[in-house]
Amino acid sequence: MTSSNADFFGHPMGLRTLFLTEMWERMSYYGMRALLVLYMTGAVSAANAGLGMSQLEAQAIYGIYVGMVYFLAVPGGWLADNLLGHQRAVLYGAVVIALGHLTLAVPIESSLFLGLGLVAIGTGLLKSNISTIVGKLYADDDPRRDAGFTIFYMSINIGSMVGFGICGYLGEKVGWHWGFGAAGVGMTLGVLQYVRSRHLLGDAGLKPNVMPEERRSRLNRWAMLVGLLTAVVVLLFGSGVIEVKASVFAENFAYFLTTIAGLYFLYLYAFAGLSAAERKNVLLLFLLFIAAAAFWSGFDQSGGSLNLFARDYTDLNFMGFDMPVSWVQFFNPIYVVLFAPLFAAFWAFLGRRNLDPSLPLKFALGLVFMGLSFLVMLLAVGVALESAPIGLQWLLITYLLQTFGELALSPIGLSAFSRYSPKRYVGQMFGLWFLASAIGGVLAGLLGGEATDGGLQSMSPIFSYMIQYYVGIAVLLVILAYFFRQKPDERRSEGE
Ligand code: GLN
Repeated sequence: MTSSNADFFGHPMGLRTLFLTEMWERMSYYGMRALLVLYMTGAVSAANAGLGMSQLEAQAIYGIYVGMVYFLAVPGGWLADNLLGHQRAVLYGAVVIALGHLTLAVPIESSLFLGLGLVAIGTGLLKSNISTIVGKLYADDDPRRDAGFTIFYMSINIGSMVGFGICGYLGEKVGWHWGFGAAGVGMTLGVLQYVRSRHLLGDAGLKPNVMPEERRSRLNRWAMLVGLLTAVVVLLFGSGVIEVKASVFAENFAYFLTTIAGLYFLYLYAFAGLSAAERKNVLLLFLLFIAAAAFWSGFDQSGGSLNLFARDYTDLNFMGFDMPVSWVQFFNPIYVVLFAPLFAAFWAFLGRRNLDPSLPLKFALGLVFMGLSFLVMLLAVGVALESAPIGLQWLLITYLLQTFGELALSPIGLSAFSRYSPKRYVGQMFGLWFLASAIGGVLAGLLGGEATDGGLQSMSPIFSYMIQYYVGIAVLLVILAYFFRQKPDERRSEGE
């Protein structure tokens, strides 16, 4: 916990450090990501030359990238918990991310995979660990914790707004690599800010878990060995010695991630020596995990299929100005900033009446909103089939519904993983939370690729299928929610 008395909106000052670091990191992440598929599928002959890839392959690469970004949060969490401490992991991560974006800024095709690889590794070190430090700023019983995560969630969305705005404009209107470079500059500002104000974090996340030095150096050696082997594999793939189609890789990656998640939950539940209460919490987190993975498989199509839908079938002319395609994604963070306080107030209002829905119910609600958003897309596809381009309102409503879903699920999920994780595993459990995003990200690339592969015609069957699985999982959650009714004292502090 921090020892500082000054505060940041009534919260420990360290929250400001984390707020600004995350803001810049998300600025760079979303800013670059919004351009990625547009760059890869852009015509080679265009003035702003793209790579001319097919939509299927480009979205598979996008899915693998998003999947890697979040998957690497698992080893990133482990490294911080056991070897580096969370503060140091965030620092290293931020530097590597900045290097990654700056690599992408180099205007040659071969900078793509190296740049994406560096951003993914850096984000793996940063993203879950910064959330862990947020949790560590508060004592276990500090009622400000959930509000702290809500403020932190704002930084994510302010950052992505800035990213879409600046990187989107520069990338599409000036040149792709200018957009990527802007992301690099943003993350560099984040690094400088973190270095200058890191002391405000006090000892929150400063030291790794206590363990005998001999065990730590053994873990260190293992980590180096695994790191080295991974680097060799990455090089073999990156340099083209092992060639593999992106869509085939993405599919296998999705199976791999699902297996890892299943095994990890099984290990925690059965073999980690947890108490009965802790095991029940692990089961609850497992349910939330499944719902979250499904949710992100729709949400992350913003950078893929929905991005392409905006480019190919939506009228983006606004009073004579051709809006950058990536600006359409602007609406998600704007809606988050506008509606997050309303959602928080609504949960608190229900909480005071002891009516606050349990976590699985909130997650089910998130999935229902995601289903509705793709129902709107189904209608939009129908209208576009009659005559394209169609108005922007369709995507605006889609993003509004997705944001409602996000607000019912995402900030609460972050806080739940902070609160219900077994103590010793909290860093890794955040990693697990992001593993749900990883699975969602890969699925988003695969589903989005299938959806857009045959133009408008191929969208309806894929979107209908997605709606069915969102609703199916939501119904399952509602049934299982019955077993996870929380005790009244836990309900009261939820969401306030
Ligand atoms: N929008 C949130 C963020 O960037 C959640 C993303 C996710 O977990 N997939 O942190």
